[in-house]
Formats: sequence, structure tokens, C-alpha cells
Amino acid sequence: MLHTSYIELDGAALNRNIAFLRSLVPDGTSFSMVVKANAYGHGIESLLPLIEDCGVNHFSVFSVAEAMRVQRTMGANSDLMILGFVDDDHLSWAIERDVSFFVFTLERLRAAIAAARDLGRPARIHVELETGMHRTGFCEDQLPEVVELLQNDAAVLEVEGLCTHYAGAEDLQSVDRIEEQIATFRRLCGELRDQGIEPRYRHTACSGALFNYPDSIMDLVRIGIASYGFWPNQETRSAFLRQHGLREDPLERILTWKSKILSVNHVPEGAYVSYGKTYLTTRPSRIATVPVGYGYGFGRDLSNNGHVLVGGQRAPVVGTVNMNMLVIDVTEIEGVEVHDEVVLIGRQGDQVMTVSSFSDMNNSMNYELLTRLPDHIPRIATTPAVVGAGAGLTTDGAGPRP
Ligand SMILES: *Cc1c(COP(=O)(O)O)cnc(C)c1O
Repeated sequence: MLHTSYIELDGAALNRNIAFLRSLVPDGTSFSMVVKANAYGHGIESLLPLIEDCGVNHFSVFSVAEAMRVQRTMGANSDLMILGFVDDDHLSWAIERDVSFFVFTLERLRAAIAAARDLGRPARIHVELETGMHRTGFCEDQLPEVVELLQNDAAVLEVEGLCTHYAGAEDLQSVDRIEEQIATFRRLCGELRDQGIEPRYRHTACSGALFNYPDSIMDLVRIGIASYGFWPNQETRSAFLRQHGLREDPLERILTWKSKILSVNHVPEGAYVSYGKTYLTTRPSRIATVPVGYGYGFGRDLSNNGHVLVGGQRAPVVGTVNMNMLVIDVTEIEGVEVHDEVVLIGRQGDQVMTVSSFSDMNNSMNYELLTRLPDHIPRIATTPAVVGAGAGLTTDGAGPRP
């Protein structure tokens, strides 16, 4: 094994997640899979072919840099949308490649019009409306000016969408805030329609909104975390399962993170382990090292706190997590040897290490823990999304599909 750890991707689980999520939206509603932040840590190059094998061909990213990566990997029939950052000097990159992007300031709208004119090709834009999150989006008092630009420059604009984003649709404390946003969005869309602006897609729903506010599902949904098999938070999971009378969780994690034991040592009672003095043995112990540390996304906050799976059992992390290594106590796990498989996230035997059980951190940290998984850990598709489709087993995780 060349690298110190590997991330395996289960295409079949991805396919089941997407089928389940699609069953929650009407047939005519498009599904955009959000693959920002390196596909939530799963790895754009390895995951994208699996997503396409599931029949999804619309992707959303945050920035042009991410869009460039997706564009190099995605199939010719797939569509790409940038939700966030496009600097003026890259507007023409997006326009030339038919990549659509959110517009939420007059500056960007004017720059897009100018770039589209220069190129002699329309810019595909999604006009983001401010509805109550107070982050990005055109405020109501800007709309007359927006409409004027859209009408005057209709020849170089393809207004493909009207959209907004919710201020925490997974948080059931915010019900009144989100419901007001939905109502405001519908009202503003109506007013724009009266002025002749009626794009193909009105879209607002992220994972939390999809589960908690079916009303937010319009012509397209932008789904991130749930496609990867994680609930946006525990509250949304419980509410959804209860409401639909489900016993089994319909979402499955698609990622497994594995490494190997690097060394096993005996340590006497009363000795400090690893840097500093944070862990003192209270008995003769067997201590093993795993070549994964905070430089690989295994946070220092898991020092004396996290667990990993080895020999089908949970082993506690002892001492501080180093940059390249962590130390575990395997005194109670029989027969642990160098080269044994270690599971950092995923299943081993009957034990499962979920991202959230990395530590006692709450489930809403899924997003952060996943996106901290660094780019340099190889991602490997171990199960094809659909039997007979795609590459199945790719070993370098970067090459094109055969
Ligand atoms: C990240 C993001 C999403 C997806 O959110 P999930 O909670 O992961 O489904 C949707 N829309 C926008 C604008 C986003 O930035």
C-alpha cells in the first residue's frame, strides 16, 4: 500500500441514496447533486463517474476552481452550475463552457452581460433572491434595476433560474423563518413573472428543506449531504423517520476510510504515551500506531477522545493525535499485528464507526468532518453504482473511465 490510508466509495449505496431522494421529489423536478468542497470530501474525480452512472447529470459547485475540476471529469451531457464565487476575470470561462452561475449583485450581472457581449454567446444565469437569510441575493428594492438589465440585455442572457437559499432548513427551531422565506420567494417569483421573467427552474431546496419543507421543492433541487448518505442533522433524521413511519434509515454512508497498523508495542504501567503528558498508562498496555494524523483530516480534537476499529472492535485513541500518526490502545483486542486493517470511518465486522461517532461531536458536524478529509488521500470506487456500468474498480481514482 503506497498511501497511508484510502477512502473507498460504494457506488451501489450512492445509487440507493439517490433513488430514495428522487422518490421524494415529483417526476418533473430536476436533481442537481452538490459536489462542492471536493464532493464533501469524497473526491470529485472518483465520485463523479459513479454519480453519472446513477443517472444524475446536473452538478453544483461553489467556485470556478471547483467547476474546472468537475468540468474536466464530467460527461459531455452533464450540466454544471456555480452557486457562489465567480470573479470577473473568470466569467468568460463559464460563459464559453456553458456553465451556469448564480448572480446576486448588480456588479456581477453587469460584468456577465459585458462578458457575454464580448464572446457573442449568452450567459446562463440563476438570479438569486434575498428572502430572509441575509447573506447573498438581490433585495427586493434592487429588483426593478435587475429586471431592466434582464430585459435590455435579453439577447446575451439566458435567465435559467430564480433561486434562494434557506437560513437553516435542518433546524426545526427556525420553522417560522423558513416558512416566511418560502412565501417571500413565491411572491417575488410571481412579481417577476408578471414582468415577463419566467425561467425554466425555480429552485430553493437543499437536503434539510427537502426533508422538512416539501413546499420548497420546485423545478430543481440542490442536494448535497443527503446524497452522500448523511442527514443534515439528527433532528431532521428523527422527525423524518417518525413522520414516515420508517424503522430503517433509508440513507447509507457511501464512504469508508481505512488504514493499517504501523507498529505494535508493549508499554509498562505508569508511562506517558505520545507527545507530552496527556496519557498515562494505568496498566501494562499494548499500544499500536496508525499512520494517519491531523495532516490527513483526523483532527487533534480527537486526542484521547476518538476511536477506530481494529480486529472488529473499537480501540480508543490515546495521547495526542500527531500530524502523521495516531496511537491507539489495543490491550483488550487480541492478536493485533502490524498490517492489520484499521477502519477510521465505516464498518468492520459488526462494528460501525460513523463520522459523528468519530467523537462525541454532534451530527451537524458531518459537513465539517467530511470536508476536512484532504485531497491527497486516494479515493477508490469499490462497488459500481449500477452493475455493468462504469469502471467498477479504479485504482488510481483519477483516470478517465475505460
Ligand atoms: C451547499 C449548498 C446546498 C446543499 O446543501 P446540503 O445541505 O448539503 O444539501 C444547496 N444550495 C446551496 C446554495 C448550497 O450552498
